[in-house]
Amino acid sequence: SDCSFLIYLSEVEWFCPPLPWRNHTNTPTQHTQHIKSPKRQVRKLHLNIYDKEILTILIHVGFLTEESGDVFSPKVLKGGPLGEMVQWADILTALHVLGHNLKISMSVKELQGFLGVPPGRGSCPLTGPLPFDLIYTDYHGLQQMKQHMGLSLKKHKCHIRVIDTFGTEPAYNHEEYATLHGYRTNWGYWNLNARQYMTMFPHTPDNSFMGFVSEELNETEKRSIQQNKVNNMAVVYGKEASMWKQGKESFLEILHRYMEVHGTVYYETQRPPEVPAFVKNHGLLPQHELQQLLRKAKLFIGFGFPYEGPAPLEAIANGCIFLQPKFQPPHSSLNHEFFRGKPTSRQVFSQHPYAEQYIGRPHVMTVDYNNSLQFEAAIQEIMRTKVEPYLPYEYTCEGMLERLHAYIQHQDFCVPQPPFIPANFSRLGSASGSRVIGPLFVPLPNSTALGWASNATAPTAWPPLSSLRLLVSQEGQSCVEACQSAGWICEPAHFPFINNKDALRGLEVQCEVVDSEINHILPAFSVMRRECSLQREPLLFSCAGHSPKYRRLCPCRDFLGGQVALCRDCL
Ligand code: UDP
Repeated sequence: SDCSFLIYLSEVEWFCPPLPWRNHTNTPTQHTQHIKSPKRQVRKLHLNIYDKEILTILIHVGFLTEESGDVFSPKVLKGGPLGEMVQWADILTALHVLGHNLKISMSVKELQGFLGVPPGRGSCPLTGPLPFDLIYTDYHGLQQMKQHMGLSLKKHKCHIRVIDTFGTEPAYNHEEYATLHGYRTNWGYWNLNARQYMTMFPHTPDNSFMGFVSEELNETEKRSIQQNKVNNMAVVYGKEASMWKQGKESFLEILHRYMEVHGTVYYETQRPPEVPAFVKNHGLLPQHELQQLLRKAKLFIGFGFPYEGPAPLEAIANGCIFLQPKFQPPHSSLNHEFFRGKPTSRQVFSQHPYAEQYIGRPHVMTVDYNNSLQFEAAIQEIMRTKVEPYLPYEYTCEGMLERLHAYIQHQDFCVPQPPFIPANFSRLGSASGSRVIGPLFVPLPNSTALGWASNATAPTAWPPLSSLRLLVSQEGQSCVEACQSAGWICEPAHFPFINNKDALRGLEVQCEVVDSEINHILPAFSVMRRECSLQREPLLFSCAGHSPKYRRLCPCRDFLGGQVALCRDCL
């Protein structure tokens, strides 16, 4: 069946071993270092999957339906994209392992059947209650639900989770704002809470990081890999011939001077002309054989495309060093065809930013491929360097289960959001008199500082407010960057708690006026004009937003080592 086909692609084991707990410690120092998983220590079985509510969940994989044009399935065995398949397979498997009751739909007909809407074309409202606690789908599926549920989609949309590889920033998600301010794309504008979009890598903290699973090795396997590494063997990242086109010859030549070059490029009858004769091309390999190849190879080398796939994590987990190109200028929806029309302004500084920022040296080297000296030096260094197989905890079977379980338990987009400041103009008193030096940090150990403690109606926040670290960005800096530079992560769920005059006062910001507007960079202030603005539209709270004239109020939070989606008190 379709389902077993997807599960076949997955690397999640059907029944994971007992889940040991680890000692989460992270010291806020250098970004690439503190995120790495600390040494694990069995401490406590924290994920008690047998003691929880069993949900009824619909999984509607829109991009695999015939109605969406299904461009992926025919290319599965021909070098086409597989990352999305890997992620869906792992989501299905993880939800199953967590014990939930799943219904899986791969066609509009099945979708209609599960939702109880009459078959046929046109939008028929769903009259009764939604027969599911949660629905996991994608943008194609969302469109199909709109067509077939009509207005009832709006009523039920808080139950929906959208699997969205590259993410959707709030400015693109808010229909009216996107239309008025040039953020309208083919995909966004669904007016969801941005955390309902779930990404493949933790690149946009405005969204929830869903991720996937890569195979984790035991100590014996790790030792055997290290003993059998072939020091001069490289595997090229790129299973489609088009990925080898244009301008790759010069650095392939350099690479070939030092190493035996292997490829896994799909071909039908003969070697693709894009692949040089000296490359030992194995053709597209079944997962298991690819893993064997990676276990022998010392280097896994990227040519700049595909972006942010699972393969580099698999290579690093099998003891390879991943070498990838730096992008200068960065790639984005403004200058690169692949990102054009995607609902994000994110700038991509290398082929695999997660590998660069969250893993880093010695497992990952990011260099300028146009500089042949730098490239050659990197190859020499790789041949000298010994590395251990490494997999960030968040991409292990346990890590994915822990994260998904926490989301299911705690993320509730159906409850009203905490209140935010109304649109009144007002003047701040003398507390605003002192100078702003930044970036500032005001520790907020409990909600008192923000005026929530005495408020009996304050909702239970998740992540809990104990994780909140308030910070002011530099001018032109986003909250993603501001929080990252302090060793934290931006937490959009905390915006409502800092969108008020108390927070400005606490930071000793000089405001002559405090107004409230609809703009995705707010809350923020202009130092020059002494103007402070709060956010009026909660859907536009955005970690990603930035403006050259404004310093932003940023709700950062701590996180567990190796599990950036969760704070220390999150579980
Ligand atoms: N893959 C494979 N055989 C190959 C090349 C890749 O099974 O010869 C698998 C790889 O292990 C990974 C998946 O394809 O799990 C997706 O790989 P990639 O990182 O290239 O991402 P994509 O661009 O396909 O989304």
